[in-house]
Amino acid sequence: MRVSRFLAGLLLLAFAATGVSADNEKVQYAATRSADGFDMPVGKPDAVGFYRSRGFISGRHMGDDWNGVGGGNTDLGAPVYSTAHGLVVYARDARMGWGNTVIIRHAYWGDGRWHYLDSFYTHLHQIFVREGQQVRRGQLVGSIGTNRGMYTAHLHFEIRKNLRIGINQGSYRKDLSNYHKPYEFIGKHRELRGGNRRVRVPINTFRLQARVVDRVGEAPRRPEATPSRPRRQDFQINRYGDPRR
Ligand SMILES: [Zn+2]
Repeated sequence: MRVSRFLAGLLLLAFAATGVSADNEKVQYAATRSADGFDMPVGKPDAVGFYRSRGFISGRHMGDDWNGVGGGNTDLGAPVYSTAHGLVVYARDARMGWGNTVIIRHAYWGDGRWHYLDSFYTHLHQIFVREGQQVRRGQLVGSIGTNRGMYTAHLHFEIRKNLRIGINQGSYRKDLSNYHKPYEFIGKHRELRGGNRRVRVPINTFRLQARVVDRVGEAPRRPEATPSRPRRQDFQINRYGDPRR
């Protein structure tokens, strides 16, 4: 009796652990280091020299836009840091409205259980990490960009509760059921207990290819109120199909 109950428990556990990944494959797991706290992704650790030009707007803009206080493209190439310890699960050019994108998977302990999150950094000028890489809080992951001249240079940064979103934002509800307000979340989780432990996080939870063209919800490039005279060579407009200039 005891054995069969044990077996049934195991079966149930196996079923629960299997889950369903993006392509209906079995979810796989990888080890990472649990977060000991979260920092701002620019001007580490407190976003010194940067301001939020746009915050979280449910249904429209699922994260924060970070700009340098100098305005215009003065922050082009500025360093972008991992908000916390974690595992890089995506580091490639997502094209379309995103461009160069990094997604880092995190685990942290709170309220007596483990929580899992993705932090999302996009429109990057350069990517300095690779998929499968372990990163620490404050580690350089990329630099601020314009997504091929599509926007004034800024970092678009999100924190997702739902690990299935990846670059397929359009397939999931754009609200607090799937996302955190990044600035507010970080503010409440600067220092955490249970950090620096070895934890297993699910991987291959989202498709690496976008299914449909996502509306990213970014404001198009426009003149800013802040006086800025970026020199021509400071950035390159290089949309798809355009010859390199
Ligand atoms: Zn944005």
